[in-house]
Amino acid sequence: MEQKLKWIEDEINQLKEGGLYNRIRTLSSPQGAWLVVDGERKLNLCSNNYLGLANHPRLVKAAQDAVEEYGVGPAAVRTIAGTTDLHIMFEERMAAFKKVTSAISFQSGFNANLGTIPALVGKDDVIFSDELNHASIIDGCRLSRAKIIRFAHGDPDDLERVLGEQRSNFLRAMVITDGVFSMDGDIAPLDRIYEVSKSYDAILMVDDAHGEGVMGNGGRGIVDHYNLHGKVDIEVGTLSKAFGVVGGVVAGNPLVVEWLRQRGRPFLFSSAMTIPDIAACIAALDVLEESTELVDKLWKNTDYFKSQMRDLGFDTGESVTPIIPVMLREAPLAQQFSRELFEKGVFAMALGYPTVPAGKARIRVMISASHSTQDLDQGLAAFKKVGRQLGVIS
Ligand code: PMP
Repeated sequence: MEQKLKWIEDEINQLKEGGLYNRIRTLSSPQGAWLVVDGERKLNLCSNNYLGLANHPRLVKAAQDAVEEYGVGPAAVRTIAGTTDLHIMFEERMAAFKKVTSAISFQSGFNANLGTIPALVGKDDVIFSDELNHASIIDGCRLSRAKIIRFAHGDPDDLERVLGEQRSNFLRAMVITDGVFSMDGDIAPLDRIYEVSKSYDAILMVDDAHGEGVMGNGGRGIVDHYNLHGKVDIEVGTLSKAFGVVGGVVAGNPLVVEWLRQRGRPFLFSSAMTIPDIAACIAALDVLEESTELVDKLWKNTDYFKSQMRDLGFDTGESVTPIIPVMLREAPLAQQFSRELFEKGVFAMALGYPTVPAGKARIRVMISASHSTQDLDQGLAAFKKVGRQLGVIS
């Protein structure tokens, strides 16, 4: 081992000792309620495939057909070598689905955040950011070089306080919050955040990665949930969770979207979403627009699993969505819990620092419309057994 990289070995050993080392399991089956994980069939309680679209026959077929017609890759950055009519169709369909004027796609939700924030604010400006915002928002804020001021999680009164204290010291201001918080499954009070932002002339952006296809009427997202169409300037979504594919989208104010086509760096300097991804996303919109069946099933499954877990005595935190944290506090306990669940046929990952704050380790259960009641009962039985065995519930 060369001396110059020895520190990495030390850091990795420390992660292992602290129960914080990421061991990535290998999947060898399509996404669904059940997966083949490290060669064994397991109940899947951890992917973001909320609606079961990741292996939906209509999305698969649309991707196959598009590949036959267009090939696989976009071949260049859109501004340089043109954009396919499929990409344009998807963006128009997405805007209509979300009841706004415009939308633009990015290669991922992470890229959408990295591209959008620095295009709108710079070094003379200020960002007010919820203290539990996702890493991609934090990185987008840092890239912008604007002053970053955090407000207390989900607290519009604290937002109002910091805006009152600081807004006038800066040129432009932006307020950014996750819609659904991915670690706790709680949601932002976007109606009040909108009112406060408006009164201080701040641009409002919500990252609805986990609300896309989940919240609102027929999965139209957090802006639809609060009926704030046309009022929230920027709604970032991801196509890699409920949509079952991969990609990111920004929907909202047409001026912002036009500006991102000129100044969104991942749009200008990185190639577009691939052809099969775009075609599958259009098919996902078809499925969502035709029926609310999958979204309804997701919520029915969520209510069932969460109420049963609470009855068993588990602490599921503040969750009001299909993201259900099972709070275990210490990372080694969470890791052991996850291993024991795996032994009992359930794949549910432990999350520890830095993904969640130190001392707030948990198993995060993700519910999907693809689960049957029998699947959920099997998961509950495993949680009950392991919970008793490890003294988490009585
Ligand atoms: N924002 C939030 C809140 C997320 O949870 C995630 C995914 N973990 C992202 C953005 C990034 O999305 P993507 O996987 O599409 O890059």
